[in-house]
Amino acid sequence: MKTAILGAGVSGMALARFLVERGRPITDLHLFEAAPVAGGLCQSKTVDGYTYDVAGGHILFSKDAAAMQWMKDQAGGDDAFEKRDRNTKIRFEDKWVHYPFENGLGDLPIQANYDCLEGYVRAWHERTARDTAAPADFASWIRWRFGDGIADHFMAPYNAKIWKRPLDQITSEWVAGRVPDAPVADVLKAAIGMRTEGYTHQALFYYPKNGGFQAITDGLYEGLKAQVRLSTVVESVRQVGERYSVNGEDFDAVVSTLPLNVLPDIVEGMPAGPAEAMRTLEFNSVTCILLALDRAEHPNLSWIYLPHDVQGPANRVTYMSNYATTNAPAGKTSLMCEITSDGKLPYPGAEAEKQTIAGLIHAGLMREEELLFTDRSSSKYAYIVYDHGFSERKRTALEYLDSVGVVPLGRFGKYEYHNSDQCVIEARKLADQLAGQAVKG
Ligand SMILES: Cc1cc2nc3c(=O)[nH]c(=O)nc-3n(C[C@H](O)[C@H](O)[C@H](O)COP(=O)(O)OP(=O)(O)OC[C@H]3O[C@@H](n4cnc5c(N)ncnc54)[C@H](O)[C@@H]3O)c2cc1C
Repeated sequence: MKTAILGAGVSGMALARFLVERGRPITDLHLFEAAPVAGGLCQSKTVDGYTYDVAGGHILFSKDAAAMQWMKDQAGGDDAFEKRDRNTKIRFEDKWVHYPFENGLGDLPIQANYDCLEGYVRAWHERTARDTAAPADFASWIRWRFGDGIADHFMAPYNAKIWKRPLDQITSEWVAGRVPDAPVADVLKAAIGMRTEGYTHQALFYYPKNGGFQAITDGLYEGLKAQVRLSTVVESVRQVGERYSVNGEDFDAVVSTLPLNVLPDIVEGMPAGPAEAMRTLEFNSVTCILLALDRAEHPNLSWIYLPHDVQGPANRVTYMSNYATTNAPAGKTSLMCEITSDGKLPYPGAEAEKQTIAGLIHAGLMREEELLFTDRSSSKYAYIVYDHGFSERKRTALEYLDSVGVVPLGRFGKYEYHNSDQCVIEARKLADQLAGQAVKG
């Protein structure tokens, strides 16, 4: 079974490694990767001793202990990882507010605290007493779930920064497990100053001691080196009877982790319906700005959220040098700011960078004289946008791939809001399935 795996991000490489673990000869597997480096969205970059993750600060955590251990083992095992407590906050005006926001109401200025609590209780009463159904659009869902105070003070402005479109154009189908969901008692306690915790499954996380998050995909790549064709763009996939031709070379099977959006230009003979469905799946890009600082220490923070426009265009700032001491030279620190854009070029550039720095200075997060240099990276496919009609378009796209036997995998390969651990779990499932088929065959 000569198999082409399109894309050498974590999904493609994890699949290859799992197949080898299940007895597939490594020489059967051929990975095509457009970039000169494997790793995809898990890549990191080091400039003058400062390391940052190019597609937003990445942490390793998982509900699946075996998958997480497997990922650690790719990069040298437990000893190769820092273990960190997640300490995330929202910068609200000049205050630090505990995250998730509804667990931090007591940290707010008193009027905002009252607005949020009153709105939360009102919304909770509406939901429970009247048993109202969850609205399908995200803007209404926020108010239904959290009330007007939390919507106006945090959720609406923060999400407007990320999604870059009116929130009523987005559906609420992605929120389960993604948007924290505190019980009413916790919110009442939080508002009067009793500490409560939300989102506890992410209370601890791991990060490679050296090389940024990319150390994990570097480890995967190490074991597959001879099979990964770097700087090799997949330009054509053609079904030829029971087999496939990829860039003119014959294969028995094809697994694609490429964004569905690019497949209409690659898969020959795709009918107009699925092609249109794939092309119109919406996504946001992310631009990450490293700020290398001449500052010896940071507060003990993992990352923070910036909801206000005056804080600049970045929605999230990662305390990159707190993840691993080697992420900055000795005695120095770094910040990494994420700015989303609507998937169209140009990406945020020098002007956005200036506004980001001004916003951080305004928010009291750094001083101008501390800045040594900046670096900027953009990733085109970063966030899936769940606009109306998304599910139908995705179903049409995947049904077509199924009909031609091209197997989709990965965050944009299947348009699933996966973190890297979930990519690994999906790759493991697929490897089990393919290994089972090979045994039957
Ligand atoms: C802002 C942000 C923060 C995140 N934070 C975390 C986190 O904290 N923890 C975590 O675990 N995960 C996190 N993730 C998710 C994680 O990055 C992804 O789930 C994972 O990297 C996706 O891997 P993949 O292999 O499916 O896709 P990708 O990494 O996108 O891989 C696809 C590969 O295909 C290649 N390719 C595309 N077109 C072609 C072509 N025509 N020919 C050949 N190759 C091609 C690309 O170059 C790429 O290498 C985050 C993601 C983002 C955007």
